[in-house]
Formats: sequence, structure tokens, C-alpha cells
Amino acid sequence: MIAERWKELRAAIPAHVRIVAVTKGQPAEAIAQTIAAGAQDVGENYVQEARAKFGVLNLPFSKHFIGHVQSNKAKAIVEAFDVVQSVDRLEAGEALAKAAAAAGKRLPVLVQVNVSPAERFGVRPQDAPALARALRARESLQVDGVMAIGPLGASSAEVARAFELAAEVFEAVGGNTLSIGMSDDWQQALRAGSTMVRLGSALFGPRPAARV
Ligand SMILES: *Cc1c(COP(=O)(O)O)cnc(C)c1O
Repeated sequence: MIAERWKELRAAIPAHVRIVAVTKGQPAEAIAQTIAAGAQDVGENYVQEARAKFGVLNLPFSKHFIGHVQSNKAKAIVEAFDVVQSVDRLEAGEALAKAAAAAGKRLPVLVQVNVSPAERFGVRPQDAPALARALRARESLQVDGVMAIGPLGASSAEVARAFELAAEVFEAVGGNTLSIGMSDDWQQALRAGSTMVRLGSALFGPRPAARV
């Protein structure tokens, strides 16, 4: 089931666009199945949940943190993940930079930009370039681009506008990665120039339990 969905999605999405399999709420077994099907990137929102699942998987894959970065969890995030997509303020970036330096790592990060009125997190678009500059001053961070969450349940015109804004911010920030597009809006994200989509329910079906 997961393997079939992966194949369909991989065939529908251009090869240069990475697919991050978002596995929050899914068991470790589902991660193993996606990797067996060909996935190389896995995204999780919660450190503890991710640690428990990653710990039982002895498989090669790139681990993306896509949840809200709490500064007091920076060390745990740096230990458990390879990429942090959700840096939305300097304080969080500094905590990650410190933890990465202590771990002797250079941590790839994306600046999370808020392009949706209903989104709680993300730097304001106009403030993103300054945040990226400040983060780039940290040697232990590698700012690779921008991540954004499209407006959920919005009209397709609103979604398109939000993704165009994310693409403009990506231009200003620079880097190689524009992480936009989820299960319900990845087609629109591709039209706006996405280089990375983050797919949960499209791969795994509805999540077992919603968390906030
Ligand atoms: C949960 C989540 C996703 C995946 O959502 P789906 O709609 O299930 O594809 C992608 N990105 C972020 C930041 C998420 O929290």
C-alpha cells in the first residue's frame, strides 16, 4: 500500500523535487516500508516521538525536523536530526547553532516563513532575509533556503498566492531548497517552483490521531 502510493507520487512529481515522507503519528514500521519503497528523506514534528522510532530503525535516511523548534529542545533536535526545516526566529537558530557547534556538526537549516494568516509559526516574509543573514553568521549552520506551510482549506487562488510569496522570499533568501507543498497542495507548490514537498497523508492515509 505504502509502496504503491510512493511509486505513484514519485512518478507524478518531477525527479529533481525531493519528497520528504512525513511520518508523524505513524509507526516505525511505516518508516521502514517507505524507505524500502525508495524514500530517502523522512520528516517528523516531535523530538521524542522521532527518537523512539528512529532508534529502532537501523536504516539509512535523512531525518528532517519540521516541527516547532523550542530552544530548550535544540540539543535533542540536533542529536536526532540531519536537517531542521523550521527555524522561524533568531533565538531558535542560536540555540541550534550552539548545539550543532557542541556536537561538531554543520547543520543544514531552512528558514520557515509564514505565508498563511492562520499559521501560528514562521517569520514574517519581510523579515526572512534578515533572519537568514543572521543565521548565516553562525558557522555551525548552513542556511539552505525556505520552508512554508500553505493555507489549509483555502481557495486555490489563495494557496497559489501564498506559494508565490514563499517563492519570492526564497529568491531573496537564496539557497537550493524551497520546501513547499503537502498532501493537499503539492501540485500547486510545484507550479510555484517547489524543490521539496512534504507528504504525510498522501502516502500513509489519514493520521491515526491528530496532535496539536
Ligand atoms: C504534518 C505536516 C506535513 C504533512 O502533512 P500532510 O497534509 O499529511 O501531507 C508537512 N509539513 C509539515 C510542517 C507538517 O507538520
